[in-house]
Amino acid sequence: KQRNGHEPEFLQAVQEVAETVIPYIIDNDIYFGKNILLRMVEPERLISFRVSWVDDDGEIQVNRGYRVQMNSAIGPYKGGLRFHPTVNASILKFLAFEQVFKNSLTTLPMGGGKGGSDFDPKGKSDNEIMRFCHAFMSELFRHIGPNTDVPAGDIGVGAREIGFMFGMYKKLNNEFTGVLTGKGQSWGGSLIRPEATGYGNVYFAQNMLKRKNDSFEGKTVVISGSGNVAQFAAEKAIELGAKILTLSDSAGYIYDEEGIDTEKLKHVMFIKNEKRGRISEYVEKYPNAKYVAGKRPWSVKCDIALPCATQNELNGEEAKMLIENGCMCVSEGANMPSTPEAIHEFNNAKILFAPGKASNAGGVATSGLEMSQNSLRISWSREEVDNRLKDIMEDIHDSCVQYGANEDGSIDYIRGANIAGFVKVADAMLAQGII
Ligand code: NDP
Repeated sequence: KQRNGHEPEFLQAVQEVAETVIPYIIDNDIYFGKNILLRMVEPERLISFRVSWVDDDGEIQVNRGYRVQMNSAIGPYKGGLRFHPTVNASILKFLAFEQVFKNSLTTLPMGGGKGGSDFDPKGKSDNEIMRFCHAFMSELFRHIGPNTDVPAGDIGVGAREIGFMFGMYKKLNNEFTGVLTGKGQSWGGSLIRPEATGYGNVYFAQNMLKRKNDSFEGKTVVISGSGNVAQFAAEKAIELGAKILTLSDSAGYIYDEEGIDTEKLKHVMFIKNEKRGRISEYVEKYPNAKYVAGKRPWSVKCDIALPCATQNELNGEEAKMLIENGCMCVSEGANMPSTPEAIHEFNNAKILFAPGKASNAGGVATSGLEMSQNSLRISWSREEVDNRLKDIMEDIHDSCVQYGANEDGSIDYIRGANIAGFVKVADAMLAQGII
């Protein structure tokens, strides 16, 4: 706390893990007295660098770039790049720390990292995005590599940005290699990677519901966000028979009482991915829906909530509202969207609650599958990747059950995910000695 006191998001993420992992360490002699958690909270390396680029008016702009290389005990650093004005060391350290546990849960050999920049892609032209991505990679390239650190997308970084960054990496290194995941289909990308985080979140929730002999069929679902994760969580939930009531962005949410069906979702994808517009534009085409400005969607009555936008977007009061309105399952698509107060409410009400490091691990798992395909120089079919993703999400669910079962038969998915993620990394660190 002394060393990181000025980093609230990082402390929040560490505290949540410490609360469940420290009792486990105390009970297990192999981990006790080795200061293993103290070692895990210190990044192996934190790189910060200047990114200068020229905007369309010929003005020189300066942003700050980062890469947090948190832990490489079980594999090369792996984790997304975020471009958003709120990006700072605290947010990236929290994300990198979560990533270590998440990647361990996938059972694939990936360490944890995260990076990005305080660059705001909103309102920028394609040429400005390209110049920024090229400038960003002209420094990052020396710190990454297919066996060292393999970044991916996150908020503000999708297929377009990955393309520009990959191009610059390839030019500087003079080699075509799987150094980034989320690549386009024709140049090393994996089928299902764009869908994987959203689909994976729904698969995880499906596993939680199955334990209760329940399913998505006929359920009402409230989703926040309208980006990559939200769109594909909605797509899979619709396919499984659910009715999607909301989507949102940082300016407000849309509520469609009749349900956002496949056709309407296509229109959302057009607004967000092609037009790069705002979710409020939905009501122009579907006037029966309403747009609520400046609010989040948690007051809408639902059976299942999928927070898929950003950290700390669901607070204690909003959690109470969800519970009072009969919500029985919350599965996090975003990283740390629920505040500690919200989690407290969900635990007290004993509703199904999945922490992001377990439920949104499908994205990085499929990135791991993209790395495998790149190494083997082959391309698996959509069905093959989707089946692997389903199996991985089921395995992650089972690991949570293994380490998180309570005496009354309920599952503490937070404890389960934290301990299952910890054990593999801690064992590797102990085996490799004090380095
Ligand atoms: P996108 O950039 O595609 O979409 C982000 C969405 O969240 C947008 O609707 C955006 O609205 C909204 N949002 C962003 N910041 C805020 C904010 N401060 N307040 C309210 N809404 C906000 O990102 P992704 O869908 O890829 O990522 C969403 C979440 O999922 C993040 O927490 C990310 O870390 C996590 N995640 C993503 C993975 C992936 O594979 N992409 C993997 C695992 C986790 P607006 O357009 O107004 O900014």
